Amino acid sequence: MGENPASKVYVSSKIAACEKLGLASIQVTPAATITTEELLAVVEELNRRDDVDGILVQLPLPPQVDAKKILDAVDPAKDVDGFHPMNVGHLVAGRPTLVSCTPAGVMEILKRSGIAVEGANAVVLGRSDIVGKPMALLLMHANATVTICHSNTRDLAETTRRGDIVVAAMGRAAMVTPEYIRAGATVIDVGINRVTDAAQAAKYFANFPERLAGFQAKGSTLVGDVHPEVANVAGAITPVPGGVGPLTIAMLMSNTVKAARLRATSDGRLRSEAKKIPVAATAKN
Ligand code: NDP
Repeated sequence: MGENPASKVYVSSKIAACEKLGLASIQVTPAATITTEELLAVVEELNRRDDVDGILVQLPLPPQVDAKKILDAVDPAKDVDGFHPMNVGHLVAGRPTLVSCTPAGVMEILKRSGIAVEGANAVVLGRSDIVGKPMALLLMHANATVTICHSNTRDLAETTRRGDIVVAAMGRAAMVTPEYIRAGATVIDVGINRVTDAAQAAKYFANFPERLAGFQAKGSTLVGDVHPEVANVAGAITPVPGGVGPLTIAMLMSNTVKAARLRATSDGRLRSEAKKIPVAATAKN
């Protein structure tokens, strides 16, 4: 919506990923002055279009738009972000569904890195609808014993030290310091925080001269919710940038293909027929 610079960056990475994989994508960018009703009409048109398998509403929406109404209007079968209450409900019930991309990406990282989840103590920092809650549910369904922490949690460091797996998703720059982490634990850093203050950068990257030089060259850098020094304690840790972020986009692509397959089969179209549908050139309007 409108001219949000961060949204533009995210949207262009998603379009680039689609192009790389041969998925057709359509970008619709209504003016930031749009009303809830006008945007609902845009979503409904995309719901109706049979050649559209996945719909993603890039947040944030302008303040006059009722974001909940818009997200709830997306056809659950095309909800590739996994935000629709129906898909969230399926996740709670442990049924196959379209799952929120970032937590799904974290599970993929754990799986592909050979980190045992079954029986592990997993601590999730953050309880948002898009990261913390679905993350905790996925870990629970994978048979971890899950603790969910939030801004009212007492003795946070003591709680996280019990974690074999700690997932940080708070949006608090470098808050998780080495004393939060048991030696050898797996640390997944979901947080993305932009640092523009030189004193802060010096504090975070005192022992990481390359990161500090990067900050000095650009005047800003990204840091996760986990302090870089945690790498000295953790058994395994995801970097920021370049850790969870790229997996989020990969899972979005995976959800899109999943949605297309599910729609193709449930519509009565055979998979072999679905395969024959030509991929149109990427259109932007
Ligand atoms: P929200 O702001 O929606 O939620 C933050 C959560 O963290 C809340 O549950 C909040 O608790 C909790 N929290 C905040 N401060 C503290 C604290 N001091 N101690 C304990 N808990 C705290 O954020 P999101 O879940 O949307 O995003 C979290 C982070 O992940 C952000 O940095 C975001 O940029 C990043 N992100 C990264 C993605 C990626 O692709 N890598 C994708 C999505 C998000 P309470 O509920 O009590 O307020």
